[in-house]
Amino acid sequence: MIFEGLAEKLQNTFKKLKGKGKLSEKDVKAAMREVKLALLEADVNYKVVKNFINKITQRSIGHEVLESLTPGQQVIKIVNEELTNLMGTTQSKINFASKPPTIIMLVGLQGAGKTTTGGKLGGLLKKMGKRPLLVACDVYRPAAIKQLHVVGEKLDIPVFSMGDKVNPVNIAKAGIEHAKKYGNDVVIIDTAGRLHIDEKLMDELKNIKSEVNPHEILLVVDAMTGQDAVNVAETFNSQLGIDGVILTKLDGDTRGGAALSVRAVTDKPIKYIGVGEKLSDLEPFYPDRMASRILG
Ligand code: GDP
Repeated sequence: MIFEGLAEKLQNTFKKLKGKGKLSEKDVKAAMREVKLALLEADVNYKVVKNFINKITQRSIGHEVLESLTPGQQVIKIVNEELTNLMGTTQSKINFASKPPTIIMLVGLQGAGKTTTGGKLGGLLKKMGKRPLLVACDVYRPAAIKQLHVVGEKLDIPVFSMGDKVNPVNIAKAGIEHAKKYGNDVVIIDTAGRLHIDEKLMDELKNIKSEVNPHEILLVVDAMTGQDAVNVAETFNSQLGIDGVILTKLDGDTRGGAALSVRAVTDKPIKYIGVGEKLSDLEPFYPDRMASRILG
């Protein structure tokens, strides 16, 4: 489960605080040292941890805590609020176009779960009453097009493809025309990923972006890769510009470092989380619910 180690450590730290009638500045600082170590062990970005601890310490040694009747509880409340803020405060939704179709471009590295997530997202949107179309623009990974068709068939969502000999920009454009013609109000474009970020990949994504003007560019990253995922997000955001992140494989991530760092590092919200291999395993991301998983 996500935040396994972190939750245990923070809850232990706060148990000690709760037991005390009054807190001194020293008590708060000692607790913050433990929180800092726990966050670093959970693979949270170093700068994010530093800012976080500074904020909590400042708020905690103010009189709102030290002179309160339940100082331990007050500190926990502050940590809970700041953890929620760190992950974005409120749920971030998809920006739907005022004039359909809404164009969503999915980007990311190979293996992050992009193609699967495209299907899952289509499934969620369909449940919301939308009529999504999946567009297969990953012309490099063998079997990616076939995979998208299989996913589409399972969910009963149409898939637009033109084989692997056509330029992805042209496929994306033709897909959008197809959606207009057949009344699909959301177009989900599955783009190519590579093992590493390289110029060719970015150039292709930039081309698609400038030709189709997507309403949403969502980056799919694997939560299990921790700070690597955060670095990937930072690079995609600075080179291409993204509107949000979909964090996959949270079901296999016990530490939670990516979930806690992505927003603070990139200033872009996590919009959805992948929580399993089934096509129904995609959920909206709620920062407050995530924070309460840590503090119980
Ligand atoms: P792509 O190369 O980015 O298109 O990746 P795929 O969509 O082919 O996914 C790679 C692997 O990750 C597949 O085996 C998926 O089933 C798996 N996967 C994707 N999302 C999740 C998730 O949220 N949880 C788990 N456990 N597996 C996932």
